[in-house]
Amino acid sequence: MLRHCSDARYVWNLCVEQENEWRPGRGKMPRFAERCRQLTEARDANPWLAAGSVTVQQQAVKDHAQAMRNFFSGTHQRPTWRKAGQHEGFRVVAVRPGDVRRLNRSHAEVKVPKAGWVRFRWSRPVPPGAKSFRVTLDRAGRWHVAFAAIPEPVQGTGTGEVVGIDRGVKVGAALSTGEMLTVPRLRGREAARLLRLERKLAHAKRGSNRRRDVKAQIARTKAREADRRKDWAEQASTDIARRFDVIRVEDLNIKGMTRSAKGTAEQPGKNVAAKAGLNREIGRSGWGRLVERLEDKAPGRVRKVPPAYTSQRCSACGHTARENRESQAVFLCTACGYACNADVNAARVIAAGHAVNARGGDAVRRPVNREPQLALLAS
Ligand SMILES: [Zn+2]
Repeated sequence: MLRHCSDARYVWNLCVEQENEWRPGRGKMPRFAERCRQLTEARDANPWLAAGSVTVQQQAVKDHAQAMRNFFSGTHQRPTWRKAGQHEGFRVVAVRPGDVRRLNRSHAEVKVPKAGWVRFRWSRPVPPGAKSFRVTLDRAGRWHVAFAAIPEPVQGTGTGEVVGIDRGVKVGAALSTGEMLTVPRLRGREAARLLRLERKLAHAKRGSNRRRDVKAQIARTKAREADRRKDWAEQASTDIARRFDVIRVEDLNIKGMTRSAKGTAEQPGKNVAAKAGLNREIGRSGWGRLVERLEDKAPGRVRKVPPAYTSQRCSACGHTARENRESQAVFLCTACGYACNADVNAARVIAAGHAVNARGGDAVRRPVNREPQLALLAS
């Protein structure tokens, strides 16, 4: 299976290289069918390539074609090089019903080309009629198998109930109902251990066994945190999709927000350290994944609301002013005296779905990255 991973990576990187070599006037890029033909030629000329699985290699070409489609439709970045130890995995198609069989309550096995039967833990039922699966090896050294199936969308309540969700930096998300969803993170002792390991890594000699061991331990700890975050996003999104009909979220450009704050040599960025800290927090909060999964599970029921001033507008009277924000945590309306948790207030403004405008001459073109929180991080 490691061989399949390296084959898939090799073929993917060939596709990337081919795209990189393109210059105006060189004619069209080969498409999927043409690349498969080239792959056949390459296999004829290189016995070592022919020794690998043709399914795995072809699917790598297909994965790359899909990645290019995503790039041209603007939802994803341009596909880049795959690196050993980082992006390990391959896809198998044309799976027949007999290719997966249950062994006992906790285990099953699947037929992998050229590898034979591979046992896996039955963590959930394999969807009936699954035609393909993907095997991945994560950075913590764990193998995973995922069978492809498009699940039914989650049904809402049917009562037209609306919920607003505000991404918080301190907590994961606040709902307009007043609930707070906290993204799990490493516990105190785990975080301290990670810090210790990272210090150890800095002192370990390059290429030593010790360095390899420490690296693996760090990867396992980080994988644990990532698993918890992923699990949180899955559970929270299913719960919200079930309980409400219309889900309103801020239309935040996460990609733009998490862009490096360093700026360029001519135009150095401001508040670089604070923004880097905020970016790290956003990445860790799993917000992007939560919204993504909500859109998957409740298609057509997620609405994006313009984010301007949601943190400064009063959800009770609509008064919008900077001074309303008493602190990062507390919202206190200077007009009507309404007091509330700041994130919950913002979630309620989002639930109302107002296109909020600033009063008077307040700068309309202010960046939308929520200054009150930035200011607090800097201090
Ligand atoms: Zn008010």
